[in-house]
Amino acid sequence: MEDDEIKRIDLEIRRIDNEIRKLKNRKDELNERKEKIINDAVRQKSMELSKRDWNNSNFPWSKKLQAKLNDVLKIDKFREHQLAAINAVLSGEDTILVMPTGGGKSLCYQLPAITMKGLTIVVSPLIALIEDQIHGLKKVNVKAGMLTSNKNDLVKMAWDALDGKNDDVNLLYITPEFMKKSKRFMSKLQKSFNQKRVKLFAIDEVHCCSTWGHDFRPDYQFLGCLKAMFPGVPILGLTATATTKILDDVQKMLDIQSCLILRASFNRPNLMYEVRRKPSDKDNCLNMLVNLLKTRFSGKSGIIYTTTIKDAETLTASLRGHGLKLGCYHAMLEPDVRSKIYQRWITGEYQAVVATIAFGLGIDKPNVRFVIHHCMSKSMENYYQESGRAGRDGKKATCIVLFRLADVFKLSTMVIGDKVGLQNLYKTLEYCLDASTCRRSLIATHFNESWSKKDCNEMCDHCTKTKKTETTDITAYCQQIYQIIDKANETENNLTLLKLVDAWYNKGTTTHRVSSVPTPKFSRETAEAIIAYLLINGYLKEDFVFNAYANLSYLIRGPNSTLISDNTHKILFTHDEGLKL
Ligand code: ADP
Ligand code: MG
Ligand code: ZN
Repeated sequence: MEDDEIKRIDLEIRRIDNEIRKLKNRKDELNERKEKIINDAVRQKSMELSKRDWNNSNFPWSKKLQAKLNDVLKIDKFREHQLAAINAVLSGEDTILVMPTGGGKSLCYQLPAITMKGLTIVVSPLIALIEDQIHGLKKVNVKAGMLTSNKNDLVKMAWDALDGKNDDVNLLYITPEFMKKSKRFMSKLQKSFNQKRVKLFAIDEVHCCSTWGHDFRPDYQFLGCLKAMFPGVPILGLTATATTKILDDVQKMLDIQSCLILRASFNRPNLMYEVRRKPSDKDNCLNMLVNLLKTRFSGKSGIIYTTTIKDAETLTASLRGHGLKLGCYHAMLEPDVRSKIYQRWITGEYQAVVATIAFGLGIDKPNVRFVIHHCMSKSMENYYQESGRAGRDGKKATCIVLFRLADVFKLSTMVIGDKVGLQNLYKTLEYCLDASTCRRSLIATHFNESWSKKDCNEMCDHCTKTKKTETTDITAYCQQIYQIIDKANETENNLTLLKLVDAWYNKGTTTHRVSSVPTPKFSRETAEAIIAYLLINGYLKEDFVFNAYANLSYLIRGPNSTLISDNTHKILFTHDEGLKL
């Protein structure tokens, strides 16, 4: 009897499970359909937005905008995408503007703010950047406030403006940290919103919202509440670095999936890109620089980038020894000393500054005619930014990298333990080592753009010269290098680049030499180029060792060394014929 009862219950349970399954399937189906409808609408809307003509001058505010641009900001005309971004946000559309550093993103919220009544809230990641901008605006008599936990005039002015007690101030800067922390700010903002006085949220460095990539800032996530709390107030996101993946993420996080996306090209057509072999001899290298500064760049203003403070100081002293007028700039200087050097450079008293990469933030000199990298950059992004300080005025300027393999090892020991850092460094090495590809197209690939020869317009060393290249099979050389490396391994010795090259040339420590390896007939420079090629292609690898004084980098077999044992495997190296391989 009881048995039958249990069987009946089990049957009933099975029936219910079946029903649940069916209903669950139906629910999933409905959810999917709903999502598709929403996605289609979002896609439809952003498609429509991108098709509209944002660049015309028939908007109700167009005349006033142009007048403020000329009379207040003292700027002649808009750059690519600036007008479109401004027209879009003034029409109430959420917009993301991707534009290289120095392209002029700030103008896209400053100009609307000074043209329209009401408040523009600018979210910026660093107080230093905010102060820089407010300082710049002050010069053209535009008042802007800053909201922080400090008490000073700028802060007081900002709170007054938020309270509606100062109509002269339309631009308010704030960090995401403070915004998240300050209940007082959020409640006052809510009040201003209710009075319809909040016109625009501008979010600088908007890629910091995304957990993808390097720059994620947790405080930016707080900005996800803006759309829901302040419906109808447009959001303008600004960034210089954003892959599609990051942008998608940012849009979701800010809840602006159907926004207008404006993307400016990263090409800087007025910059001439060159890479030169850096002489290994210090004096030769110095002479080369002196020569450049005294002839080709005579009377022109520029920047020379070095890696370490010590390098910057030594190089400055050596160049001054040749009668050149230069300043030395790095992060360890007192702020007033730094600003004095900067001023002397701005006014032309100094022809150039020799600087570490600390020299960058807020540089605003339009007529920088040359940027020379005495040592290559740590990544292509860095190189783009550093070299990009040249030619902001749109006139021709030159960017030169002095390249030497030994510098790679100096930099690699600085990014020790950071795999991405090392990959980034090798990308720069590839850029320097390439013998024929247009430099501009190499940079473009890096930013997921593609520029043709036409976009370069003979503005790189590879497009101007009809430099011939040759392809050489360097498999045998690779094998010789392995013989040297293997011997060192057996005797538990480590090989730095210098020791490896010495051993190859049958010089230096006798224990490293291998009698069956013939002395190369080509120059040491060529030997270094071969080693560099083997390094970026995984035939060689850096091995890092820490000791009490320094981090050291040694060369060992790379993951691709196993390919060599197969007799048919060839390593083909394309190089310029100057290498004489
Ligand atoms: P970003 O934020 O994109 O790195 P900024 O907004 O700081 O760049 O602008 C860089 C420089 O370009 C500033 O000195 C700015 O005054 C200048 N600038 C911006 N727009 C224009 C323009 N249309 N014409 C000339 N200079 C401009
Ligand atoms: Mg900026
Ligand atoms: Zn080119």
